[in-house]
Amino acid sequence: MSSKLNALAAAGIALSLSLTLAFATPQAAFAREPEAGVKVGNMSFARRLVSAESVEEMGEQQYRQLLQKANQQGALMLDTTPVVQKVRKIAEDLLPHSVTWNERAKAWRWEVNVFRSPTINAFCMPGGKIAFFTGIIDNLKLTDDEIAMIMGHEIAHALREHARERVAKSNITKYGAVAVSIVLGDAAGQLAQVGGGLYGLKFGRNDETEADLVGMEIAARAGYDPRAGISLWEKMSSVNKKQPPQWMSTHPSHGTRIDTIRANLPKVMPLYEATLKR
Ligand SMILES: [Zn+2]
Repeated sequence: MSSKLNALAAAGIALSLSLTLAFATPQAAFAREPEAGVKVGNMSFARRLVSAESVEEMGEQQYRQLLQKANQQGALMLDTTPVVQKVRKIAEDLLPHSVTWNERAKAWRWEVNVFRSPTINAFCMPGGKIAFFTGIIDNLKLTDDEIAMIMGHEIAHALREHARERVAKSNITKYGAVAVSIVLGDAAGQLAQVGGGLYGLKFGRNDETEADLVGMEIAARAGYDPRAGISLWEKMSSVNKKQPPQWMSTHPSHGTRIDTIRANLPKVMPLYEATLKR
């Protein structure tokens, strides 16, 4: 089930960003039996008003800018750090179970990076560009299962093309031109804000529920305990009482969220339990 890691020296990537690691498309994507797992509706028809290519291109550009900026500010965590290796290992586990959700995703050049910043945030941009901030991992003391739930959730937004849908519905062509507005830490590593761009998009309630469900299935199939979705949201809401994290501001919180996750556990626990026997 392991997808092969490619050094980023591969063609087409700026060498100055050699700290990045790209994931090869998983060769052995797992088939998804439609009778098992969560139930979600069709993807939005409106998203077709803009091409998938153009939105993925925007994602690529904005991710490059983010990496460049972070690199300049010393906020890009090195490949050798345990947190980067951990997050990439989780991505490597999840990807073969992710690409089955979207044909295009099989050709995406997935990337996973961790940014040193107290911001409680994570995202996956169109085209499979994943970012985690150390703030979300450290402040919430995330377990691997909880990281997998967040990653599954963010990957699900990309797989279900929610950003493309948002761009199409609001005709936000400015996202193509908007400069990445980002401050990643001052000298003391105090401040971190990410504003504007595809990763600042606020999704609707339906998209959030869909991302929760698809994400928990992906994580479960990859061998991560989907019950971590409950502890994750409990942690998130306790942090939220003190200071609303960035991630929460783009992820509307509802009292029913944990209930929905709990109600769907019977659909994904067998998938998780099957991985324990392998
Ligand atoms: Zn979300």
